Amino acid sequence: MRVILLGPPGSGKGTQGGLVEHAYGFPLISTGNLLRDAVKARTELGLKAESLMNRGELVNDEIVLELVRERIFREDCRRGYILNGFPRNLAQADSLEAMNGGRPEVAIEIDIDTDKLMQRLVRRRMCSKCELIFNLEERKPSRDGICDACGSTLFQRDDDKPEVILERLRVYREKTEPLVAYYQGKNVYHRVDGSLAADAVFEAVRKIIDGEMSKIEGARSQG
Ligand code: AMP
Repeated sequence: MRVILLGPPGSGKGTQGGLVEHAYGFPLISTGNLLRDAVKARTELGLKAESLMNRGELVNDEIVLELVRERIFREDCRRGYILNGFPRNLAQADSLEAMNGGRPEVAIEIDIDTDKLMQRLVRRRMCSKCELIFNLEERKPSRDGICDACGSTLFQRDDDKPEVILERLRVYREKTEPLVAYYQGKNVYHRVDGSLAADAVFEAVRKIIDGEMSKIEGARSQG
């Protein structure tokens, strides 16, 4: 199953993507994480992306498309994958459709209001090694500043500062939100309420994926 997670920064795409990955075994591909890895490794691509990311702007389509293309054609993506943070605009969505094996089967929007997002993002912390996401209120680590999963230190993303968050939200509304209508038009769009607790959101996500999987199976068995 090829799944796209849509939603503004802080809506819980990373958390839900991790839960889907764990439950179904499809690899989670997060373009934000791929870019942060490139920045950390000081690769040429990372150096090009860094200042745009720190300002909350989108990185050039060509750079991101190259990362995605390289990733979704790997063997572990043959049964499907989950995309988090991609596509981010209509041009990226069209490019994904044009890739062999790129057309999404489900696009799930995690819908949530702006006040809640701000509260979540300023309290968000991420593991410096395994990239697991915590929240100082809703999903506290058991030991302060330490990842429960791998024991590495947690950090606050540079772009999770209030002034950059506002710019990221503006960019989302302008460039990414039109994808809702795009995927509605392709009959793959679903919406879940992102203000609920993570496990309740996941229940809704799971129902959507299971429903779509059984439709695909049904169509396959009818030849
Ligand atoms: P995220 O972790 O998804 O919030 O992404 C962090 C930052 O990486 C974004 O604010 C953008 O600067 C960049 N980025 C991630 N995914 C994309 C994408 N699909 N297109 C362009 N820029 C992206």
